[in-house]
Amino acid sequence: MQFKNIIGQESLKQQLVLSVLNKRVPHAIMLLGQEGSGHLSLAVAFAQYLNCENRIGDDSCGECTSCIKAQKLIHPDIHFIYPVVSTKGSKPKSTDFIEEWRKAFFENPYFNIQDWIESLDAENKQGNITVEECHEIIRSLNFKSFESIYKIYIIWMAEFLGKEGNILLKSFEEPPADTIFILIANNEEQILPTVLSRLQIIKVPRLKDEEIIYRLEIKEGVANRDAHAIARQVDGNYNEALKLAKNSEDDNEKMYLLFLRICLKGNHEGKSLIDFCEKINADLGRENMKGLLRYGLDLMREVFVLEHLGESKVRLTENELKLAQYMNQRLSFHSKEEIVKRLEESCFHLERNANPKILFMNLGIFLSHLLKRNEVVLT
Ligand SMILES: [Zn+2]
Repeated sequence: MQFKNIIGQESLKQQLVLSVLNKRVPHAIMLLGQEGSGHLSLAVAFAQYLNCENRIGDDSCGECTSCIKAQKLIHPDIHFIYPVVSTKGSKPKSTDFIEEWRKAFFENPYFNIQDWIESLDAENKQGNITVEECHEIIRSLNFKSFESIYKIYIIWMAEFLGKEGNILLKSFEEPPADTIFILIANNEEQILPTVLSRLQIIKVPRLKDEEIIYRLEIKEGVANRDAHAIARQVDGNYNEALKLAKNSEDDNEKMYLLFLRICLKGNHEGKSLIDFCEKINADLGRENMKGLLRYGLDLMREVFVLEHLGESKVRLTENELKLAQYMNQRLSFHSKEEIVKRLEESCFHLERNANPKILFMNLGIFLSHLLKRNEVVLT
């Protein structure tokens, strides 16, 4: 991971880079910040930068052998230590779970401890950084680095070291030359003062709303207004922001598909179009109603992409893909355009305070006629 891939935290990136350029890299640091601030990403990017063979100014090159391995989390001199559970034996170590660790990081480098434990199918278990793990670290300190200058230990969720942290005090205080510890934590009160006193603490600030909005829009394709609404709710936690974005996407998908089914059949699962419009009116705020219509528009865009560029170019769930394929089989280009036009008009009127119940009713009747005219059958 390169610094440029990390959301915000510009002055912190600068501080880390300068420590390298000035040859004043602390040998034991703690990146302390709230969940979703990106401290793990910063640690990974810093480790990659430290061992990069061809640093380009304030970032790693991303292309040298060391960077390539660091990016895949397989660099032999960058070690990860994190809480683990006893599903693979009674004395678990981080290396037993390295595959799961890489998968979790690549899916979302802002994940939290609950996400991590759930990903191990161990919801009811407590994670732990074990005594054996600490002894293993000390043993491995005796070996020189394999390929790069620096040997780096990234300890994620250092809170889980508990009392075992004392085993590592000497290592934090006087590690062998070119060995660097980077601890990551959310809550310094849960870390032994003896451990804290041996680390240089670097505070990682919460992300700014505008940084979260920008990233959600650019990287996740979230609509501007939804991104604003999400950023307001998450208090700088990008992990939480991603979850909200995903949930609202799931909800919109369910709701819109229900809407189409009702339009086609007159009712679905006992709900008529009138029931549906009343429910929308009662349950959804105006922003969410617009979100639902925008979802409909996005879906239509994907329907066109699917037709012209093929399945590999669309981002659709299984259900959406089925629906999109079906629309392409049944609807003419003109009919699809009509749907887009009608959805756009509905968005326009909703923004200008049209009565939502009447608006969705009209849209529903229009879609109902159009889909029935084209003999679309939804299962
Ligand atoms: Zn490099």
